[in-house]
Amino acid sequence: MAVQRTDPYIWVTWLTKLLAGEAMCEWSSWFRAHHKDYDKLPADFDLAGWTIDHRELVNARREQLLDAGFTVYIEDENAFKRIGQTGIVVSGKPDILAIKDGVGVIEDCKTGRPRTSDQLQVLVYMLLLPIRNPRVEGVSLSGRVAYKTNMVDIPATGLDDTFRTRFVDLVRKVGGDKPLPKSPAWAECRWCDIGPADCLYRVSEPPESAEAETDLF
Ligand code: SF4
Repeated sequence: MAVQRTDPYIWVTWLTKLLAGEAMCEWSSWFRAHHKDYDKLPADFDLAGWTIDHRELVNARREQLLDAGFTVYIEDENAFKRIGQTGIVVSGKPDILAIKDGVGVIEDCKTGRPRTSDQLQVLVYMLLLPIRNPRVEGVSLSGRVAYKTNMVDIPATGLDDTFRTRFVDLVRKVGGDKPLPKSPAWAECRWCDIGPADCLYRVSEPPESAEAETDLF
């Protein structure tokens, strides 16, 4: 049964699809931010297969960066938790932090098709990971998304006022007291693990085809 959290707790990946406009159900992020131990449904997702693929990609990138002379930190070594003045906690765990000669790169490894949210996720890491973090003090940081066949570099200029404002506004909404709207849709519900005890609006089937003939054109 869902237990209300004492303080709102937000995992970075609960924000980035909303930031990118790739997800519309704000309620699912709001609910997770405010509750733990809720009844979970198995998501329609091959977690074991993803974990193996992701691990291989992270290991391959680590080897390449080590060969290039970087000091490399991976996953749990990069875990952070930032507590705002509002009491809202935002946590994340970048796959890779690589540093060499005062220059650092935060990488996230993605095995799926490229999405805008991948880049926004790295930007959030670039914003939050350096806060009171002696490991990157004085280090000039940029970001990168590493896919299986290509990489996308993310310059520090991406951390502009527009991005910061959108990020802070969304953290305040998701971490705020007021429940956010639900947007039930099969494309999102199929990946959502919130069970019927907490959400009765799940769409479990793909929509009927919206195809129809018209004489308008
Ligand atoms: S099941 Fe669907 S409507 Fe319910 S919280 Fe999840 S995404 Fe939103």
